[in-house]
Amino acid sequence: MGAVRVGVVGLGAAGMFAALALARRGAQVTGFEQFSIGHDRGASAGETRLFRVLYGEGSIYTDLLLRARELFLELGQQAGTSLLDTYGALTIGDRSVGWLASMIDSAEKRGLPCSVLDRRDMARKYPQYGAIGETDVAILDPMGGIVRSNESIARAAMAAKALGARLHDWTTVTSVEEDGAKAVISTAEGEQRFDHVIVATGPWAKKLLPSARLTVRPVLQTHHVSLDSTHAGASFPPAMVMRGNVMIYGVQPMPDSHIVKYFSDGLADYRGDDDEVAANFAASRHDVSDDYFRKVAAEIPGRFPGLRPEASRGYTYYEGYTPDKAPLIDRQHPTSRIIHMVGLSGHGFKLAPAYGEIAANIALDTTPPVARAFALSRFDHAA
Ligand SMILES: Cc1cc2nc3c(=O)[nH]c(=O)nc-3n(C[C@H](O)[C@H](O)[C@H](O)COP(=O)(O)OP(=O)(O)OC[C@H]3O[C@@H](n4cnc5c(N)ncnc54)[C@H](O)[C@@H]3O)c2cc1C
Repeated sequence: MGAVRVGVVGLGAAGMFAALALARRGAQVTGFEQFSIGHDRGASAGETRLFRVLYGEGSIYTDLLLRARELFLELGQQAGTSLLDTYGALTIGDRSVGWLASMIDSAEKRGLPCSVLDRRDMARKYPQYGAIGETDVAILDPMGGIVRSNESIARAAMAAKALGARLHDWTTVTSVEEDGAKAVISTAEGEQRFDHVIVATGPWAKKLLPSARLTVRPVLQTHHVSLDSTHAGASFPPAMVMRGNVMIYGVQPMPDSHIVKYFSDGLADYRGDDDEVAANFAASRHDVSDDYFRKVAAEIPGRFPGLRPEASRGYTYYEGYTPDKAPLIDRQHPTSRIIHMVGLSGHGFKLAPAYGEIAANIALDTTPPVARAFALSRFDHAA
């Protein structure tokens, strides 16, 4: 019997890591991407992503994060480069809040390294963060850091190709259908038949899965020049700042540069209503309004004294979210040959190598127990 033939639609972080996991398991993989590989229009776009192992989002993620970390480090090592700069990650907020408490809890239960810094520790160790709140603490996750996102996708593509995967860029998939014992992918060039197809189309997911409980949300980011040499590397770990269980702002120093990336969830009124977001996404609008730039410039000095308040650039990205912010990684129905891998919900890059293995294992008929948490049926999905 020949190798299992698997098609992968969408080669952002989810699809690319699924393609790599499949190729590593001996499948014959063909990937399709509507734009270039590593383009800047999808949810995986940009140079960096925050990586954390201590997770407020739930304990089911801990093993996946440890596995993803291993896979990023391994892929970097194979490529002779660093894809995950592990100089720690901070989460700042009131320690009584469930999110932070569950991070500390998961560190204790799993024996993972974790330091809890109070206001004075922060002022001494990381003065770049300005003063944190009176009752706030900062949790330092020393296994966290920055993932080099663009480069990770490029390296995963190289590794998958070296194992025989065929990756087609600038090829839009117009439909994925089941036809007896095969799943059929249609593009402008014609049809191709596969044993299984993984659909990993990020914010475009509703096009091929119209009934899924997914929404597209914009994520705005601005880049700021650092005026202080301490805004780099281990002396300035990336951070999320929480109010209750909601992140209100965050920063990521970009490795090898004097640029710091800033995202403010507090400026939610600049996102528009659902119809406006959908229209902007459909029109591929990635700009940021002057008003947004002004608001960000007013926030920065109180939060990050050493950063230039005026952004050097700003960009609107889009991402597909599920109602519970856990991804959908599941067959369309129990005997389907089509597997969906969408709704990575704003925190999926760090997990993509582990999610990729789950999707690959589902395609190869060894669904792991953790996949139950990512099933379509949890939203009474009508396929
Ligand atoms: C601004 C921003 C910051 C984030 N920060 C973090 C962070 O710090 N840490 C973290 O872990 N996560 C973060 N996330 C979340 C994470 O980046 C995403 O969850 C993840 O990248 C989603 O990947 P994806 O492959 O599902 O989507 P995408 O990257 O959008 O990939 C989908 C791909 O499918 C292609 N496609 C769609 N339709 C078709 C078709 N019909 N035919 C062919 N190709 C098609 C698209 O072109 C695209 O390349 C962030 C997200 C955003 C937007």
